[in-house]
Amino acid sequence: MGERIYDVGIIGGGIVGLATAMALVKAGVSSVVVLEAEDRLAAHQTGNNSGVIHSGLYYKPGSLKARNCVAGREALYRFCREQGIDHQACGKLVVATRENEIPALDELERKGVANGLKKLRRLSSGELKEYEPHVAGIAGLWVGETGIVDYSRVCEKYAEIIRNGGGEIRLNSRVTGCRRDGGELVLRSHAGAVRCRNLVNCAGLHSDRVARMCGVKPGLQIIPFRGEYYKLVPERHGLVRNLVYPVPDPRFPFLGVHFTRMIGGGVEAGPNAVLAFKRLGYKKTSFSLRDAAQFALYPGFWIMGLKFWKMGLGEFHRSFSKKAFVKALQRLIPEIQPADLEPGGAGVRAQALEIDGFLADDFRIKEAERMVHVLNAPSPAATASISIGESIAAMALKNFSLSPKGIEPGPGPLKPQE
Ligand SMILES: Cc1cc2nc3c(=O)[nH]c(=O)nc-3n(C[C@H](O)[C@H](O)[C@H](O)COP(=O)(O)OP(=O)(O)OC[C@H]3O[C@@H](n4cnc5c(N)ncnc54)[C@H](O)[C@@H]3O)c2cc1C
Repeated sequence: MGERIYDVGIIGGGIVGLATAMALVKAGVSSVVVLEAEDRLAAHQTGNNSGVIHSGLYYKPGSLKARNCVAGREALYRFCREQGIDHQACGKLVVATRENEIPALDELERKGVANGLKKLRRLSSGELKEYEPHVAGIAGLWVGETGIVDYSRVCEKYAEIIRNGGGEIRLNSRVTGCRRDGGELVLRSHAGAVRCRNLVNCAGLHSDRVARMCGVKPGLQIIPFRGEYYKLVPERHGLVRNLVYPVPDPRFPFLGVHFTRMIGGGVEAGPNAVLAFKRLGYKKTSFSLRDAAQFALYPGFWIMGLKFWKMGLGEFHRSFSKKAFVKALQRLIPEIQPADLEPGGAGVRAQALEIDGFLADDFRIKEAERMVHVLNAPSPAATASISIGESIAAMALKNFSLSPKGIEPGPGPLKPQE
């Protein structure tokens, strides 16, 4: 028997790669292989995130994030119900603690309405306590559409559907090279060569490197930001009913340290956003000369540094000082004390940085001959995964001239609006 040639090879077994494979399989393209570097799925961003099903509150109306988050959130709730995955639409509270945050809170409310949120309620200082008795603030927003889930569990189900539909998933298969051979692509991997006609790059923290490896200029650089968590000690779980967030600084793409009740039990506090000197830099001491040198040689890195140095120092300070971390949390829940918190885990976000120092906010996809590269899929990409996966699959069906036997996936809202 000759070597198998797959219609589509997908690099990366995080939630975006798996959702894309699932959409292709559902559309009748069963000749799909997902190649994952690690020995398990969802090993990086997907398996170390906050587990929040985002509502769509934060994103610029009409942006890819806004449209995919809203469509993906509803699709995810439906998927969890149908597949029996534990989840809760528990809602969340955004709390303003200073007068100068009110304009940003107003703006969030406007965006929420524009993005079609129906369970949005503006709250006075007194009304905050109806939802979260331990919170103190001067105003707030209740967002009923927000929920919680375990994204690793969601990925297990996506993987089951892929395998049942005839797709393949290979672990321990880091792709280290790509060459064209006539009408085919040959992917060199730790588990041997894999031939495919088309490729989708969903490599998360390595997406820019994988694009370059495939001969495509990504036009951006992935910068890793570590997010560190604490956990509330069990005796203090009662301080938080559901999710409590600050009003985010609109100049920065991260949401600020917050409290999140986890679907598996417990309450996490965090994550902060600390520049990591290694793409998979989960520890404070993580350092990679190769990664750090790559950032240092990128002009956008220094421009970003000049713009955000003050904020960056604050994040480093909170990373090394529990007292400073607790102080940030006390703005939301004043009675919280250092003894109420024990160390939690950490996740690393892949944040795309443009050459001019601009932190790319929206999802970014680049098409090339027989290839689709997902270059920026930050939060809320886990929430939006079904919508993103369907959109990439629709792109792939068109661009790769695949003729599926089944129905085509709906053209999800991934292309910018006209
Ligand atoms: C701390 C944190 C909190 C977050 N909170 C939320 C949240 O609450 N809600 C939400 O919706 N989103 C959240 N996000 C964002 C969300 O987790 C990500 O947007 C999403 O997981 C991205 O999925 P992905 O598949 O693109 O990336 P990943 O999950 O990182 O997957 C990429 C995969 O590619 C593999 N890979 C890389 N290079 C290669 C190679 N050469 N060969 C083979 N495989 C390779 C990696 O091993 C990895 O498994 C959070 C992210 C972080 C880090």
